[in-house]
Amino acid sequence: MSRREQYTIDTSALDFDPIELVDKYYQERDKRVHKEGFGQYQEIKGEFSNFIDDHYVEPGFTREPLKDEVEVVIIGGGFGGLLTGAELRKAGVKDIRIIDRAGDFGGTWYWNRYPGAQCDIEAYVYFPLLEEMDYIPKERYSHAPEILEHSINIAKKFNLYDDVCFQTEVTELRWDESISRWIIYTNRGDEIKAHYVAMSNGLLTKPKLPGIPGIDKYKGHTFHTSRWDFAYTKGSPGGDLMTGLADKRVGIIGTGATAIQCIPHLGEAAKELFVFQRTPSSVDVRKNAPTSPEWIARLQPGWHKKRMEDFDILLTGGLPSKKDDGSIIHKSDLKKNETNKDEVSDGWTDVANSEKKLTKDKPKLSKEQKKEIREIADLTKMEEIRNRVSGIVEDEETAEALKAYYWQFCKRPCFHDEYLQTYNRPNVHLIDTHGQGVEEITEKGVVIDGKEYELDCLIFATGFEVGSNYTSMAGYDVIGRDGQSLKQKWDEGLSTFHGLFSKGFPNCFFLGFTQTALTASFTHMLGEQAHHLAYVMKHSMENDATTVEATQQAEDDWVESIKAKSAAIERQYIQCTPGYYNNEGHTGNNNGFLSGQYGGSGAEFFKLLSDWRDEGSLDGLEIK
Ligand code: NDP
Repeated sequence: MSRREQYTIDTSALDFDPIELVDKYYQERDKRVHKEGFGQYQEIKGEFSNFIDDHYVEPGFTREPLKDEVEVVIIGGGFGGLLTGAELRKAGVKDIRIIDRAGDFGGTWYWNRYPGAQCDIEAYVYFPLLEEMDYIPKERYSHAPEILEHSINIAKKFNLYDDVCFQTEVTELRWDESISRWIIYTNRGDEIKAHYVAMSNGLLTKPKLPGIPGIDKYKGHTFHTSRWDFAYTKGSPGGDLMTGLADKRVGIIGTGATAIQCIPHLGEAAKELFVFQRTPSSVDVRKNAPTSPEWIARLQPGWHKKRMEDFDILLTGGLPSKKDDGSIIHKSDLKKNETNKDEVSDGWTDVANSEKKLTKDKPKLSKEQKKEIREIADLTKMEEIRNRVSGIVEDEETAEALKAYYWQFCKRPCFHDEYLQTYNRPNVHLIDTHGQGVEEITEKGVVIDGKEYELDCLIFATGFEVGSNYTSMAGYDVIGRDGQSLKQKWDEGLSTFHGLFSKGFPNCFFLGFTQTALTASFTHMLGEQAHHLAYVMKHSMENDATTVEATQQAEDDWVESIKAKSAAIERQYIQCTPGYYNNEGHTGNNNGFLSGQYGGSGAEFFKLLSDWRDEGSLDGLEIK
């Protein structure tokens, strides 16, 4: 791949050559594409199943199997399940049972307790239900323990601990036509009947390992970041020093968003730390700060919803939609060259802002010129991030290896104020694999370029399964009307109406990335989906309906309407360095991360749902 055409806009003021830079992006991309795509990873099962043991519960939990009936079962106790539970309680639903394989609520924040774990979306945007909970996060970018506590507090406030089933894995959902109920089977022997089921299995939940030759041979201590072994490392999720590593040679494979956050803690604690890097992450300034009491004092009712909405709009280069009093700002209300204020104003909204600055005095730009300006804004931002590396990391070779050469949103952008500094420690060694990854794992350690690095402990920061069938990731199949399997129905790609309903699966609702909008603030999307679902279920319950189900026409229309937009996004992402966003650089995976998603902005999608509710006829659903 290359971008050899000249830019039509003036690029003479830039202190880099944009064409050369884009060429370098493509070279870096091409050397990383693995011929096996997602097939390069090792599924966690069989001899590897101890990698997903839950270290946070007392072993040996047992209970009697349940053979009963509830009105609503929600699968998943993360934010999706919690928000659905909260919205249903607000709608007056009393009989709710949440099922989760974890030992408590929190979803991703239950599992990801690695030291330094933090949310990189501003807390005032990311935390759901802040006004209802009368809570303001302690700092601008919250650490995992506070987010876990907020999850638990939501569950308490909305009485979601009533009837909950933790440490329970669903093994199958089966529709029983004779009684119009779902039967939920679990690994605890349960057979629970439910009128309605909401599935919120989460997205990045199933840890994955790299299929590196010899991975089964390693004899030292080893674990995945999402199951941090504090019994071995000591320390705590709050970031206390991991004294257990003081005499240990520790290796970590992976330098994604998770690794960026835990590496500073490992560097501080380990006798020696070896970071095995395949692709560097872009790491921008974090500038975290405690929440200002003066700012809190200025907040007006409705501020949280507005901030969440503004963030989505800003990310897509738009203007925040409403004034502080809630009324809409139209573009025509703005004076010439005026843009509305970016209240969030952080690394996420920065690219959109720099694009606005570049277009400020140029009202008549062609589509191609706008595209070029977006590219230049991105290249400029990434140059700034690369220059930041040189300004912090003392060893030049290490600094060069830590520079990310790809478009900013090709991989999860990272933000940290201690990560790069960690490489100035004498005990920390970056082992760059030049895009090729770890060559081999032996009984004693890791091999790169024929050299063996002996390790006492090897940590896998290698991410989560994406790209296999929806039900494989969920861990169970759903058998709907006439014995139809959801696995089979969705094998060639998702098929829903509004992302929430699928024909043949009455009273079964899907939350998460199932043909819905992509937005960086996942909790906002889950909240909107939960609200929408509660509206439909309330209507159905008030009308004593037996079933609610998508019509074939509505589903077909939805799938058709999102195809073009999502295909355009996929085409754009295929130019990126490989990762889970773009099927590891391969086309043609109907179950990939971006495949068949809505394709428009979060703001557009949420408006589409709210217009549908306002219209009131529930068009596209058959309610009987
Ligand atoms: P990722 O999938 O982002 O990263 C996995 C890492 O492992 C990559 O650096 C990858 O390299 C590397 N890797 C895989 N195989 C090999 C190999 N054979 N040899 C060497 N390296 C290898 O997982 P993360 O857990 O870091 O993050 C997953 C997601 O979790 C993020 O994208 C984000 O959405 C979410 N997250 C969110 C946070 C938040 O603040 N809200 C914080 C942390 C995570 P390569 O890039 O070359 O594939």
